[in-house]
Amino acid sequence: VIGAGSGGLTAAVGLAGLGRRVALVEAERVGGDCTNVGCIPSKRLIHLSRNPAHRSDPAALLAAVRATRDALAQREEREFGDWKGIELIRGRARLEESGRVVVRGSGGGRAIIARDVVIATGSRPRLIPIPGLPPGRLLTNETLFEIAEAPRHLAIVGAGPIAMEMACAFARIGTRVTVVGGGSRVLPQADPDASQVLAAALDEQGVRVLLRTEARGYGDDSEALLVEGPSGPGRVEGVDRVLVAVGRDPVTDAVDGRVDVGDDGIRVDGWGRTSRRGVWAVGDVTTRSHQTHAADADARRVIQAIAFPWIPTVGRPPAIPSAVFSDPEVAWVGPPAGRLRERYGPDAIVRVRVELADTDRGLTDDVRRGFVAIDALRLTGRVLAATLVGPRVSELLPLLTLAVSRRMSLLRLGRVVHAYPTLAGAIGRAADDFAVDTLLNVRREVVAAIRTRAAAAGGALRHGGAG
Ligand SMILES: Cc1cc2nc3c(=O)[nH]c(=O)nc-3n(C[C@H](O)[C@H](O)[C@H](O)COP(=O)(O)OP(=O)(O)OC[C@H]3O[C@@H](n4cnc5c(N)ncnc54)[C@H](O)[C@@H]3O)c2cc1C
Repeated sequence: VIGAGSGGLTAAVGLAGLGRRVALVEAERVGGDCTNVGCIPSKRLIHLSRNPAHRSDPAALLAAVRATRDALAQREEREFGDWKGIELIRGRARLEESGRVVVRGSGGGRAIIARDVVIATGSRPRLIPIPGLPPGRLLTNETLFEIAEAPRHLAIVGAGPIAMEMACAFARIGTRVTVVGGGSRVLPQADPDASQVLAAALDEQGVRVLLRTEARGYGDDSEALLVEGPSGPGRVEGVDRVLVAVGRDPVTDAVDGRVDVGDDGIRVDGWGRTSRRGVWAVGDVTTRSHQTHAADADARRVIQAIAFPWIPTVGRPPAIPSAVFSDPEVAWVGPPAGRLRERYGPDAIVRVRVELADTDRGLTDDVRRGFVAIDALRLTGRVLAATLVGPRVSELLPLLTLAVSRRMSLLRLGRVVHAYPTLAGAIGRAADDFAVDTLLNVRREVVAAIRTRAAAAGGALRHGGAG
C-alpha cells in the first residue's frame, strides 16, 4: 500500500486483518492530509472558534489546534507502526514497469514485490500564480495550521468547501476575511439554493465575497491583493495573508506512465481497479473521491476485491454524502438537480423543501436560516438526492444517504419517527408534504408520471436505446 493517509490506512488495516502481509509505505506523515493538514486541524479550529473563551486569544487557539492534531498524529504513528500484519516502511515509493515497488528513503533503497499494489498517494493543493506575493504571505492547507498568529486580513482565493469553512472560522476569531471566487456563486459543488443561503450568512458574519473575480497580483508595499472582477481591476486593501484554496491536484508521481492517469487523477472502475492488473487506487489520487469517507469507502471495496476475489464485484458504488462545516453547515447526497433533470427529464422530479425556521427546533434554537430539500421521483417518491443547510445538519445525512442508496420512497421515509424536537423532524415534514400533495392529486401525478416516462422512453429510442 503506497500512502498511509485515509485510504491507505483503511486498505492496510483491512487487508492485514484478513491475514494478508502488508507493506505500508509512507513518504511523510502517517495519517496523511486528513490528520495533519486537513479534516482534523480544520474541524478543531472550527470547534474552538465557536467558543467565546477561546476567541479572545487567537494565538492560543491556533496553538491548541496544533496540540490536538499533534497528539492524534503521534498516536497514529505509534499505532500503525506496531499494527499486527503491517510493516510500515518510511520512504517515497514508485511503481516500476516490472511491477516492483521501489522505495527510496533516508535509510537507502528497497524493492518490494507484491501481488497487489494499492496506490493511495492523495492530493496536493493546486497553486495559481499571484505575482508579487511573497512566499511568507502565501498560505495553503499545508501551512495554514502552522501560523502562530491569526491574520489581520485574510484573503481566501477560491470559494469551495475549504474556503467556506476557513472563512467562517477565521471571521469568528476576529480576522477580517475576503473571499475571492472565480465562479458565479459560493460553494459551486452544492445546490444553488444552498449557495444562496450560505452567501447571505457570510455577509451577516462580515465576510466579504467577490465573485467572478480573479486574483491577479499582490502589492507588498501597500499590502493590497490586486483583483480583476466584472467591473474591471480592483484592490483588496490591507491583506496580510492569502490562502489559496482553488482545488486539489492528484499526486500521481508514484505511478506516472504505469497506469492510466487523467487530468483529475488515476482512472479506476467502481472497485478501484486501474488499467493495470493487480494495481488498485483509492482516495484523492483517483478521479472518484475528494473526501476521507469516500477514500475509506473506496478502500473497503478494494479490500473485498483483493481478499475475496471469488465474490463477484457487482453492485453500484455506494452513495457518498458530502458535508461542508461552514456556518451554517451545508450537506448533501445524490447527484445535483441539473444532472437529475438531464437523467430523468425536466418534469420527472419534485423537490420538497422545508425551512428549518418553520420547525419547532428551529424556533427554540433561533435557527433563522437553513432548509431540508429532498429531490424525489414524482408519484413513487423515490429519493434521489437531498440538500441540507443549517446548524449541525451534517448529522442528519445518514438517514438521507440510506434513503438514496436503498432507493427508498418518501412515502416510506415518512413512516420513520423522529425524536421531538429535532431538526430531523424537517425530513419527516418534507415526506409528509410529498405524501399529502401526491395522494390528494393522484390522478394528476399518474398522468404526469406516465407522460414523463413516455417522453424518456421516446428519447431513449431516438438515441438508439442508450437511455
Ligand atoms: C483543509 C482540508 C479539510 C478537509 N476536511 C475534510 C473533512 O472535513 N471531511 C472529509 O471527509 N474530508 C476532508 N478533507 C479531504 C481529506 O483530507 C482527503 O479527502 C483525504 O485525506 C484523502 O485521503 P487519501 O488517503 O486519498 O490521501 P492522503 O490523506 O493525502 O494520504 C496520502 C498519503 O500518501 C503519501 N504519499 C504520497 N506519495 C507517496 C509516495 N510516492 N510514496 C509514499 N507515500 C506517498 C503522502 O505523504 C500522504 O501521507 C479535507 C481536506 C483539506 C485539505
